[in-house]
Amino acid sequence: MIVKFIKRLLGGGDSAQATPAPKPPAASGPKLLSYRGAELGIKREQISPAAMKTCEVLQRGGYKAFVVGGGVRDSLLGLQPKDFDVATDATPEEVQALFRRARIIGRRFKIVHVMFGRETIETSTFRALQTDAETDEHGRVLRDNVFGSQHEDALRRDFTINALYYDPIGDQVLDYLGGVADLKARRLRMIGDPATRYREDPVRMLRTVRFAAKLDFTVDPATLAPVRELASLIENVPSARLFDEMLKLLESGHALACVRRLRAEGLHHGVLPLLDVILEQPRGERFIEVALANTDDRVRAGKSVSPGFLFATLLWQLVSDRWQALMAGGEHSIPALMQAMDSVLDEQASKLAIQRRHIADMREIWGLQPRLEKGGRGAIRALEHLRFRAGFDFLLLRVEAGELPEALGQWWTQFVEGDAATREQLLDARPGEARTGPARRRRRRSSGARRGGADSDGSSGDAGGDGAQEAHIPADRAASIDRDWPSDLQGGGSPRDRNPPR
Ligand code: ATP
Ligand code: MG
Repeated sequence: MIVKFIKRLLGGGDSAQATPAPKPPAASGPKLLSYRGAELGIKREQISPAAMKTCEVLQRGGYKAFVVGGGVRDSLLGLQPKDFDVATDATPEEVQALFRRARIIGRRFKIVHVMFGRETIETSTFRALQTDAETDEHGRVLRDNVFGSQHEDALRRDFTINALYYDPIGDQVLDYLGGVADLKARRLRMIGDPATRYREDPVRMLRTVRFAAKLDFTVDPATLAPVRELASLIENVPSARLFDEMLKLLESGHALACVRRLRAEGLHHGVLPLLDVILEQPRGERFIEVALANTDDRVRAGKSVSPGFLFATLLWQLVSDRWQALMAGGEHSIPALMQAMDSVLDEQASKLAIQRRHIADMREIWGLQPRLEKGGRGAIRALEHLRFRAGFDFLLLRVEAGELPEALGQWWTQFVEGDAATREQLLDARPGEARTGPARRRRRRSSGARRGGADSDGSSGDAGGDGAQEAHIPADRAASIDRDWPSDLQGGGSPRDRNPPR
């Protein structure tokens, strides 16, 4: 039975195109490869103490326990893993019994969250992918909740490079499916027959894109081949799951590359409905490029990004276009913006399940824009807004995308970083003039200039050019500013990242 199952998965179909070496283990005798971690360059220090401890306790309890998935893959590539998952032959109840702080979660398939301080190690019991699993009419597996052997556990994972097991105590890597060879060849290869695996779980197509972009790996031709044809299956994925995977993609540190790749594979249609419309508008593309590049900079610098901020940027062009249209029809700025926000959010809600708290953040970020555009005396009150920092960062993205004058961004940056006297001076220098609506598109600044920040000579703006006068901010003052404003919603880098005082 198991042999038949393995044959089906690995034989993969006759339709699978030839995959480059190494060949997956034959059904008759899967060749399990074993390596010493040190020999492959894994450094034990890279494994989090919490993951180490989880494995240690489980092994002392008489169970098998390995770090698996991204934790092993990234360590082998010399990257800092994002998080660590542990796989074990202990049942969830057995796992829970061994730890003081452990919680069983999940309805369909139970896993255990083992907690150490602020770190949580997701611990799952080896499970198998059933041949006779319940599926929907497209082949999507609705239930895969059967425990299995370690080998079966490897087979039900997505890519060979994600199916490596590392025992941090014995310093041993177990490789059932040629994942080490694929890692060395920098190749992303689906386990089993790719088309079948995508049908079982269409989200895997997004994962193909994400890992290829994040790791800069070549996608094995057979793994890539079915994606275009099967792209529409994504529509059957529950929207909450889609949201989670999309967030992972956007927070991968390679969001821009991922989005480009999604388009190249035809996956963005239907997959990310909100991108569908936006990317097809020239202005929208520019803004999203700037926003995603900025997000990637933040992630790579180890900073947090907020989902609310991210989705606010992704949907902004739609909101902005509708806002402008309503104003052109005679509506006042603020009510026009509110209506535009409502209509865009209503429309999107049915497609992608953005959680309510993120929606609230998005509204606040967008809602701050007219006030920030206006500047003037209202700036003082805007500073007190709970989401000021996010709104301000958002404004800077709009400036960078050429939607608003550079001088406005500089004015705000100096205002934010300035002491009371500087702020007074800036308020005098810039009467509160209203400016709504996108400015003409501007020449893109080089990325050096983007990072270098306040590079303008102050002559390029058309709204309050005098706002570009300089304010010298001592470093300690600037640091206190960062503390003064809530930073949980910072989506676009602190002003000092982009516009450091000279
Ligand atoms: P990341 O660095 O983004 O966390 P990861 O590989 O650890 O990458 P996770 O989503 O955390 O990704 O999943 C952990 C592991 O679970 C994967 O490495 C893979 O082995 C398995 N896995 C996750 N999602 C799927 C899926 N849709 N199909 C099959 N296996 C999956
Ligand atoms: Mg992971």
